[in-house]
Amino acid sequence: MIQVLVADDDEALRNIVGEVLKAEGYDVEVASDGDDAWRLFQGSYPELVFTDIRMPGRTGLELLADIKRVSPLTHVVIMTSHASLETAVGALKHGAYDYLIKPFDDLELISHAARRALTNLRLMRERDFLVAQLRERNEELERLNTLFRELAVRDGLTGLYNHRYAQQLLHQEVERCTLHKRPISVLFVDLDHFKLYNDRHGHQKGDDLLKSLAVCLREKTRGSDVIARWGGEEFVVIAPETDTAAAAALAKKMQRSISELEIPGRESQPKGFVSISIGVATLGKHAKGASGLVTQADRALYKAKDAGRNTVCVAEGFLEDAALEEFLATTVTSGLMGK
Ligand code: GH3
Ligand code: MG
Ligand code: MG
Repeated sequence: MIQVLVADDDEALRNIVGEVLKAEGYDVEVASDGDDAWRLFQGSYPELVFTDIRMPGRTGLELLADIKRVSPLTHVVIMTSHASLETAVGALKHGAYDYLIKPFDDLELISHAARRALTNLRLMRERDFLVAQLRERNEELERLNTLFRELAVRDGLTGLYNHRYAQQLLHQEVERCTLHKRPISVLFVDLDHFKLYNDRHGHQKGDDLLKSLAVCLREKTRGSDVIARWGGEEFVVIAPETDTAAAAALAKKMQRSISELEIPGRESQPKGFVSISIGVATLGKHAKGASGLVTQADRALYKAKDAGRNTVCVAEGFLEDAALEEFLATTVTSGLMGK
């Protein structure tokens, strides 16, 4: 039942209004002054309030302000005499929904005002509901968009970036590094004898190995490095702010970690463990642009395969770099290549 509060210090008037509204089927409470009205309001939070302006205790305008503060949707109808019409019109600006002029020419005006107010209240509720629903759907859409954007750049098996995104990023990074004259290297990583592993242990175990490799690569690289699955069992690491020596050191680190991974079935691989081969190329030193860098790193990878696998090779030109040659020589003799 819809609750209505009627407040007026004129007893006859508040009773008439109360009776008319009761006859309309509303649950009506009546108050004889502003403070009484506020007390009753807080007891039941009615949806509709009819109030006089001048009353003992709170005035109708003070009551209106208090009600709007705690219950903005409650509709307040001001009942006023001709003398305070201006005040009543002012009350509309402060949130009153309507006003009625006393004495009433026709009692129907009261029930009409109640119906209008309640219809408006229902529309406002519906509007609020629709707005909330729209906001919820927009948020859901936003969430899905983010998810789709993320999925579009990810490889489904490993969760690493995919080939397309790696290409795009490589071009961007190469452009940036060329502009700012910063070093950047690319590492091509390929599992050795993966076909053999698949054949021996099944495709599912092969997939698991690819996932383990992805985790391992991610652990060994910096947050600023981009790791992507280039395709099949081939991965790429794009390492900004990394010169050839640092890239080769990173490659060695990755190679060692993979060789130490406790992969099921590792012992039946040709070297007795899971190994990778890596080709390294650096911008400026081995190539001038993104695609040249890819070609050079890929060539270096082939060289590493030719050299017996489980090997890091730097693109042609690295021999000019005595320091790097020395570095690779020391790490190779530390046992990685011979394993
Ligand atoms: P190499 O040392 O010369 O790299 O030899 P390889 O056997 O690793 O290379 P090859 O190119 O001969 O075979 C690659 C294998 O990788 C064959 C292919 O079935 C397998 N492969 C590619 N993608 C996936 C994948 O998503 N899951 C699994 N399980 N296997 C894959
Ligand atoms: Mg391979
Ligand atoms: Mg391959």
